[in-house]
Amino acid sequence: MRMTVIGTGYVGTVHAACMADIGHEVLGVDADADRISSLATGRAPFRESGLDDFLARTVASGRLRFTTSLAEAAAFARTHFICVGTPQRPGGEAADLRHVDAVADGLARHLRPGSLVVGKSTVPVGTAARLGRRLAAPVPDAEVAWNPEFLREGSAVQDFMRPERIVVGVASARAEAVLRKLYAPLLRAGVTFFSTDPATAELVKAAANSFLATKISFINAMAEVCDAAGADVRMLASAVGADSRIGDRFLDPGLGFGGSCFPKDIRAFAARAEEIGAGEAVAFLHEVDRINTRQRERTVSRARRLVGGSFDGRRIAVLGASFKPGSDDVRDSPALAVAESVRKEGATVRVHDPQALDNARAARPDLAYALDIPKACEHADLLLHLTPWPEYRRIDPAALAPVVRHPVLLDARNCLDDRPWRAAGWTLHALAHPTGGTS
Ligand code: NAD
Repeated sequence: MRMTVIGTGYVGTVHAACMADIGHEVLGVDADADRISSLATGRAPFRESGLDDFLARTVASGRLRFTTSLAEAAAFARTHFICVGTPQRPGGEAADLRHVDAVADGLARHLRPGSLVVGKSTVPVGTAARLGRRLAAPVPDAEVAWNPEFLREGSAVQDFMRPERIVVGVASARAEAVLRKLYAPLLRAGVTFFSTDPATAELVKAAANSFLATKISFINAMAEVCDAAGADVRMLASAVGADSRIGDRFLDPGLGFGGSCFPKDIRAFAARAEEIGAGEAVAFLHEVDRINTRQRERTVSRARRLVGGSFDGRRIAVLGASFKPGSDDVRDSPALAVAESVRKEGATVRVHDPQALDNARAARPDLAYALDIPKACEHADLLLHLTPWPEYRRIDPAALAPVVRHPVLLDARNCLDDRPWRAAGWTLHALAHPTGGTS
C-alpha cells in the first residue's frame, strides 16, 4: 500500500522506514530540507539502534523516498501519517499544535477526496475531531483517525516490529480496514489491535505516559521519605516491586525522567483536562512534575555538599548527557539540567556521553565536553553519574582514581556496584541513600 509519513523526526523516520520494510511504498515528508537530503541518502539525522540498516535497505529498494512537498505527498497516496512535533507551548503548559495544524492546512489544499489522515503525534484529546472539521470543507469524504505512537527511543525499531499493542481511533469501518491492512504483517504475528474512537485513542497515550511518569515520581517521593527516615529506598523498591500487582519496572529511584515526551506530555494532559472541565481529576500530575523536578535539585544540593558547600572553583565531571541511555536525544535531559546548574554555580564542568555529545554541545554550548571518560574526569573534585549508560557500569575505578583530584562519586542513578569503587579507594554516594551516607 502507499502512504506518506509527514514529519521525519524520531517517530516519523522510524515509522517510514519500518512501514517500507514490511512492504509498503512510503514517501517521507519534512519541512527541513537538510534532513530530507540526508534521509534520501539512507542516513538518519539521529542515532537509533538498527535504524540506519532499515533506512539504507528500504531507500535502496525504492520503497522509501523523501520530499519536502506536501503537494507531492497528496498526489502520491490517500493515507497520510502525521508525525510532527507537539512541544510545550512557549510560556505555557499546553501542547503547541502549530506544526500539526500547519500540516493539516497544507494538506487540505491538495488532498484527494476520500483521503485518510492518521495522526501519530501525541496531542490533546479532541484534536482528531477538530482536524476532521477543518478538513471536511475543502476535502470531500476526508477522515482523520488517531494511531498513537508508543515507541521508546533506543529500541524504536524493535518497538515498531514487535509492539505490545497497536491502538487506532477511527470514526468509520473504512478507516479501520485501511489501518488493519497497513499493519497486517504485525497483526498476523499476533500483535493486539485496539480499535476505538479517536478521543479514546488520544487519551490512551496521555494516560499511559501519565501512569509511567507517576510511577517514577512515586518511587522518588518514597526516596525522599526514606532519606528523612534513614531508610533504604532501594530495598523498599525491590520489596514493593516484588508484588506482581505493582511490578518493579519504572520503580528505580534516582534523578527522574526527562526527554521530549513525559515532562511535556503530563503538562499538556493536565492543561487539556483543565480546559474540558476535568482538571481536578489529574491535578496529581502537577505533583508528579514537581517531585520530578525536585530530584534534579536534590542531586545538585547533594553534589554541593560533597564539594564542601560551594561549587566555586570546583571541577566536576559529568557522566552522561542524553536523557536516557541508548539515545542521543538531549531534549529536557535531567543530566544536562544538573550539569548546567552546577556550572552556573561556579564549577568547571566537563561532560562525557557515548553518543549525545554533538546534540549536547548544540543545546548547552557553555559546558565543556570530553570524548573519553578519563579526559572528562581529569583533576575532578567530584564525579556525577547522571545517565545510566552500560559503559559506566564497566568503568575500571582503579584506573580512574589517579586521574581525579578527589576520588568521590555521586551515583544519581543508583545503579553502580559500590564494591569495586570502594576497593579502589573511592567514596561512593548514591542519591537514593540516606543523607550523607555512602552505599
Ligand atoms: P521530532 O522533533 O524529532 O520531529 C518532528 C519533525 O517534524 C521534524 O523533523 C520537523 O522538521 C518536522 N516538521 C515540523 N513541522 C513540519 C511541517 N509543517 N511539515 C513537515 N514537517 C514538519 O519529534 P518526535 O520526537 O519524532 O515526536 C513527534 C511526535 O510523536 C510528538 O508529538 C511526540 O510527542 C510524539 N512521540 C514521540 C516519541 C519519541 O520517543 N520521540 C514517542 C512517542 C510519541
